[in-house]
Amino acid sequence: MEVSLDYLITTVSKYNLKGLDKIRKAYDFAALAHKNQYRESGEPYITHPLAVSILLARINADVDTICAGLLHDVIEDTPTTKEDIEANFGSTVATLVMGVTNLTRASISNKASLDNANIRKLMLGVNKDVRIIIIKLADRLHNMMTLQYKKDPEKQKKKSVETLGIYVPIAESLGLYDVKTELEDKCFMFLMPEKYHKYSDERKKYDELTSGLAEEVAIKINQVLLDNDIPNTVKYRLKNVYGIFKSLVNKGSIEDIHDLLAFKIILDDIDACYLSLRHVHEEYKPIPKYFKDYIAVPKPNHYQAIHTTVLGPESHILQMQMKTAQMEKVAKYGITDFWHGDDSIGAKEMQNALKQEYPIYHHIIEANKMAGSNQEFVDLIKGEVFAEKVQVFTMDGAQVDDLVKGSTVIDFAYRIHSEIGDKMAAVLVNGVNVNFDYTLKDGDQVRIITDESAAGPTEEWLNIAKTARAKKKIREYLNRQKRNGQSLTRSP
Ligand code: MN
Repeated sequence: MEVSLDYLITTVSKYNLKGLDKIRKAYDFAALAHKNQYRESGEPYITHPLAVSILLARINADVDTICAGLLHDVIEDTPTTKEDIEANFGSTVATLVMGVTNLTRASISNKASLDNANIRKLMLGVNKDVRIIIIKLADRLHNMMTLQYKKDPEKQKKKSVETLGIYVPIAESLGLYDVKTELEDKCFMFLMPEKYHKYSDERKKYDELTSGLAEEVAIKINQVLLDNDIPNTVKYRLKNVYGIFKSLVNKGSIEDIHDLLAFKIILDDIDACYLSLRHVHEEYKPIPKYFKDYIAVPKPNHYQAIHTTVLGPESHILQMQMKTAQMEKVAKYGITDFWHGDDSIGAKEMQNALKQEYPIYHHIIEANKMAGSNQEFVDLIKGEVFAEKVQVFTMDGAQVDDLVKGSTVIDFAYRIHSEIGDKMAAVLVNGVNVNFDYTLKDGDQVRIITDESAAGPTEEWLNIAKTARAKKKIREYLNRQKRNGQSLTRSP
């Protein structure tokens, strides 16, 4: 990646011609503030904020965000104050920079609790301005891209663990897939260098072996659809190295991964997506178990497409993704697709969408309410918000997809409503009566039968429940019972 002010300006100019002077001014300000500071690579420090801003410009960031990217380390590392930034660049840039600035090191002595405090502060950026989190993601991405200059392997590993546990899932939940996969591969490289090189080599070999076939299939699909008067563009990609590694846990060889080689078929509208599915299935036999309709049921991060896996030439397993151009844009830019030339509007739309349409927002706010200490907060985020989920359904077919794997019907009941948990009398899963300690499985349809005279939660339920929300509600119930019991014994 070229890192220069000219390159930054060129990249921004591709989507926005307003505010270029403000960006130059922010660069001069940051370069002066970081004068005589150097990175571990030996380069002048300013190369880091400059690179962060270039990464932001790649996702069409607005001018204030680019400026904040350039200035993101000046408060932490130089005598510059928030007031200096506000006076020179306005309150929005100042707010963004303050959001990215780590908590003061002096106030917390212990390194682990400092990390947790910073993670909590970072995640609560959703409540202020999601651009704070996006800048931090670009910051972390550049730090990972240059992590080889940090000589201590233990520090490299620690950074990678934190990135994989926190930053990768944030990027995914905001739909920033390019950032997510790039971060994943960097982390994988530092955490398991041997495995990384093994799978990286296998991926390269597969790529060489199938590049002819991939080209042939792309041309074929394009032609078949054109023959049926369906305009389209076909692209293909190979899964990232870490993705391959994860898919291979407890599985056979790289060729068996159902979405190793994926074709993106970009179409004019949704009708064309479904119509193309038919033609693709006529051409290649589908493998039913991998079919996913993310157009009808989008992912929580708004990803949409129809996915089908088929048997291609020479029995190669190929994934086909049918999507519109807009869906492909959302797949690439995620929530930052709201950014367009006009600064203030895009940022506002992004923040509104986050609050109203992205579950991650409410999960973070709820975790913050439930957690006392910063450690509890981070445990909740890692253990529930970002942990693998089970997908179940209510009786009227509504999908519940935010319960962590291992959740029981008690968790389900409290997920629906605390009243339902407190008054749960019986549970039917897929029409069959089950005990309250039944562990939910993907696709289960759950029906809770409530009764005013139900016995209610007991201490035992605390051991059965897996989610913090259910445990909290059970404790509240038990405390209410205790208080009522005491007032009963006290009454004459
Ligand atoms: Mn930084």
